[in-house]
Amino acid sequence: MNAQIKTELLGMNMQELEEYMASMGEPRFRSRQIHKWIYQKEVNSFYDMSDLPRELRQKLDEKAQISIPRVLKQRVSVDGTRKFLMELEDKKRIETVLIPQSKDKNTRYTLCVSTQVGCPIGCAFCATGVSGFQRNLKYYEIVGEYLGAKRELEKKVKAEDNALIANVVYMGMGEPMLNYEDVIKSIRILNDSIGINLGQRHITISTSGDIGGINKLTREDLQVTLAISLHACNDETRNDLIPLNRKYPISELMEAINNYILETNRRVTFEYIMLDNINVSRADADDMIKLIKPVLANVNLIPYNEVEGLIYKKPSDKTIMQFYNWLVNGGLNVTIREEKGSDIEAACGQLRAKRER
Ligand code: SAH
Ligand code: SF4
Repeated sequence: MNAQIKTELLGMNMQELEEYMASMGEPRFRSRQIHKWIYQKEVNSFYDMSDLPRELRQKLDEKAQISIPRVLKQRVSVDGTRKFLMELEDKKRIETVLIPQSKDKNTRYTLCVSTQVGCPIGCAFCATGVSGFQRNLKYYEIVGEYLGAKRELEKKVKAEDNALIANVVYMGMGEPMLNYEDVIKSIRILNDSIGINLGQRHITISTSGDIGGINKLTREDLQVTLAISLHACNDETRNDLIPLNRKYPISELMEAINNYILETNRRVTFEYIMLDNINVSRADADDMIKLIKPVLANVNLIPYNEVEGLIYKKPSDKTIMQFYNWLVNGGLNVTIREEKGSDIEAACGQLRAKRER
């Protein structure tokens, strides 16, 4: 077989597209047309690019590709959350979730993207973590999650509004900091003002506490929000929940976070899953107040989404409210995350991209 490797156009910015078209002997304005087809119209077949000459479409089809992942399946929750099962070029599968921001029919959405197929961190409570690791996503595959989800959404919701997806959170499958270069590159493409044009402040990266990644982000010229999955404020419990804590214990993690805040002047978010009988006692609240009060931060409490086959349980509403009140009375900025999409296993930590029937 002499299969030619095609050039990937997804993820190219205008300048790169211009260079590519020039290498084919085509005029510059063709790249503007293609750029628009990709980033504004989410088109991945050259044959659908109706303002290109037929011969050029054919030539491009032979030499190039636009790998927006194929949506194999879509499930819609009673609350309007949509979960997409997407297939990548090598047939590997990931999940991407669109979450409506309100019940209003003109609502905007938050998109939760995956950064890896599976996850090597292996947190004890997480469906992705217990299902193992396969590979990192390429930057253009992450951008492809956005374009693929937007294309599906536009079929259902009539909106010419480019801001239909108002926020992107890197909280799907995988640990973004272990795929750092591609994650950052995908953010720059989402942010490109002549392309998708998503504001950096509308992007959040969540990490289980990879200090190397946090330090790199500190030096990056980006205005994104950093979220830290804390889940426990003592090393013993955190070691059990997040194996990475053995490498980067809480004291070192806090040092990196404080340095991030000092250097960037940006507020961080701590995510804290509430697990019954594990991390919601009065002592846990006191530990958190001691640890976080001095830090410029918000705390986002996440009632645990139970995962089939795992031992962890969501606490009762009473326990959740009690824990919340302890923290608020202790002087922390706290919100409880309203979980969406749990009826279709689309909530945080429930993604595993098993073969859907
Ligand atoms: N790997 C990154 C980002 C993806 S996970 C991280 O761990 O931060 C996104 C968030 O979902 C994390 O805060 C994670 O701890 C949380 N999460 C994982 N499993 C969960 C579950 N079953 N219920 C609620 N949140 C969960
Ligand atoms: Fe990976 Fe995040 Fe799940 Fe932990 S919680 S296994 S880091 S995806």
